[in-house]
Amino acid sequence: MPQIKILLDETELPTHWYNVVADMPRPPAPPLAQDGKPISLQALSVIFPAPIIEQEISRARWIPIPEPVREIYRLWRPTPLYRAVRLEQALGTPARLYYKYEGVSPAGSHKPNTAVAQAYFNQLAGTRRLTTETGAGQWGSALAMAGQMFGLEVRVYMVRVSWEQKPSRRSMMETWGAEVIPSPSSETNCGRRVLDSDPDSPGSLGIAISEAVEEAVARDDTHYALGSVLNHVLLHQTVIGLEARKQFEKINEYPDIIVACCGGGSNFGGTAFPFFADKAAGRQVRLLAVEPESCPTLTRGRYAYDSGDSAGLTPLMLMYTLGRNFVPPRIHAGGLRYHGDSPLVSQLHHEGLVEAVAVPQRATFEAGLQFARTEGIIPAPETNHAIRAVIDEALACKQTGEPKTIFFTLSGHGHFDMSAYERYLAGQLEDAAYPDEAINSALAQLPKVAS
Ligand SMILES: *Cc1c(COP(=O)(O)O)cnc(C)c1O
Repeated sequence: MPQIKILLDETELPTHWYNVVADMPRPPAPPLAQDGKPISLQALSVIFPAPIIEQEISRARWIPIPEPVREIYRLWRPTPLYRAVRLEQALGTPARLYYKYEGVSPAGSHKPNTAVAQAYFNQLAGTRRLTTETGAGQWGSALAMAGQMFGLEVRVYMVRVSWEQKPSRRSMMETWGAEVIPSPSSETNCGRRVLDSDPDSPGSLGIAISEAVEEAVARDDTHYALGSVLNHVLLHQTVIGLEARKQFEKINEYPDIIVACCGGGSNFGGTAFPFFADKAAGRQVRLLAVEPESCPTLTRGRYAYDSGDSAGLTPLMLMYTLGRNFVPPRIHAGGLRYHGDSPLVSQLHHEGLVEAVAVPQRATFEAGLQFARTEGIIPAPETNHAIRAVIDEALACKQTGEPKTIFFTLSGHGHFDMSAYERYLAGQLEDAAYPDEAINSALAQLPKVAS
């Protein structure tokens, strides 16, 4: 009988985060100011504390995890690695399937791995307040919890459509002491401008980021925290892949394929980068990012400099983008509806070192249901994208008879997303691939910089 749960002791919690920049074939492209010149550290220090900026530009391979952060990590880390034996049997595949379960964190996803670190470094730097945005609510809840633990006030601009549809996520953030404001709001110039032209605007992640950044720039006591995309966020998430590597060592296994869903790239980067270190050293391993057909950033976007928000307040980053004015259809994987992607993941994809695939919404819920009915855990709709790709790879192994080892991160549970499952079960969910014309028109508005 194979071992089902591969567990690590608390003493085996990583002591350092892994910085993939040290092993990338080329250095990351620098972020640019709106005038097309490399951004000054001074400009970044208006919204981020010094230790976070250092991590953002660091080339060091290992960065120590401060003890107060490890102490909080120990509330739920190391997280378990599971062998999905029952799913393997249901599929009749010779492949061995493994998943790392990040839903055991208090907020129910991988996001507290960086929220706790960001709150800590802000407290260290004397920050009193943090602003942020949230779409589906997972990032807002993670930062609300982390802010509370380090005595920081947290204000969350929540995309209005989610604010209306997900009152329990809002209550979670308020339970952890955060203030939650539907975006677009009348609190900021960016918000007021959107409301003037469209009083019923459902909002978007891009607009909510503009509001949170505008407030952080305007106030001395306030910094901004982002839940994905940036280098330091992916760095913090590498605890996932580092633990998984140790867990595979314990059972004398090594994955052939590593799979994670990809919105802004923090779950994918956190899972895959520690294995990229082995790939850079010559090991054969496939790294596969999975995104929705309705927000196909890596698979159909353009590799170009673009802004991280709608109003153009953030630096320009070289990344795969669908254009900052791209408004994806209202699919249920809210965490995967971002127009851009991590510059690190983008660069590795551009260089052919990371693969990407886009999957349609209904097929992801079909996969999620099969997972819940075999393995028990009900996954977040975002995670269902990874599960779809894993099942497809496992079925391909069934065709060829290859006993590949496939590993994915179960980035969060779906307990707050049952209305999405309800709609799937009622046959009301639709596939919504994005039309070429819509992508082209959003891309036509990319900022003009030489790249
Ligand atoms: C936010 C979120 C994602 C997407 O994360 P990125 O790191 O931005 O790609 C995936 N799964 C869950 C459960 C999430 O909360």
